[in-house]
Amino acid sequence: MSQARILVVEDDQPIGSGLVRVLESQGYAVGWHRSGRPALGATDDSVHLVILDLGLPDIDGVELCRHLRRAHPHLTIMILSARAQELDIVAGLDAGADDYLIKPFRLAELLARVRAHMRRSEGREAAIESEPIVVGALRLNQAARRAWKGDLELTLRPKEFDLLALLIAEAGRVVSRERIIREVWETEWMGSTKTLDTHIHALRQAIGAGSITTLRGVGYRLEVE
Ligand code: CA
Repeated sequence: MSQARILVVEDDQPIGSGLVRVLESQGYAVGWHRSGRPALGATDDSVHLVILDLGLPDIDGVELCRHLRRAHPHLTIMILSARAQELDIVAGLDAGADDYLIKPFRLAELLARVRAHMRRSEGREAAIESEPIVVGALRLNQAARRAWKGDLELTLRPKEFDLLALLIAEAGRVVSRERIIREVWETEWMGSTKTLDTHIHALRQAIGAGSITTLRGVGYRLEVE
């Protein structure tokens, strides 16, 4: 993994600056936002971990967590909050957080948890990079963004590739239209289903009409040969 990137979202000056200093001393690349909305815009796929305070000036951290999770399914989110009630913790985890640490926290524990999350995220990246996914005659290399049917390399547009990658990851199982729209287009609502229909059509032309089954009103399934 390239230098691990962490985003700290914390409006408390001493805590925020302390976190940045100590995380940087451990070799992480650290960004710091004092409010929620800018953090949402600054989070992209190069960010591995977000450390998130809940009491923020512009948006509640739980709400922000929900947005982040929706937009970045693989991002690790760690809540760091003074809200210590069981209900708060459950709400945070239900909003998509991977971890919840209560303030005041012990620095050594926070760093140990960060290391554990980074190890997992590194393992996932390594797996994605090294192993092509094979389903029947289809083969897909996620890191190189290349796909083949037999020996023939497929020419796919970016969203067609993402769609194929998702269907292959769930081969033999139905993938709902909502999930496809959420993960491939990173939005909850596209207005019409025409874009999705067009991409499914293009994929069928590329990999064979019978390979993708439509389950009306539900979603699509990549058939395992
Ligand atoms: Ca706060």
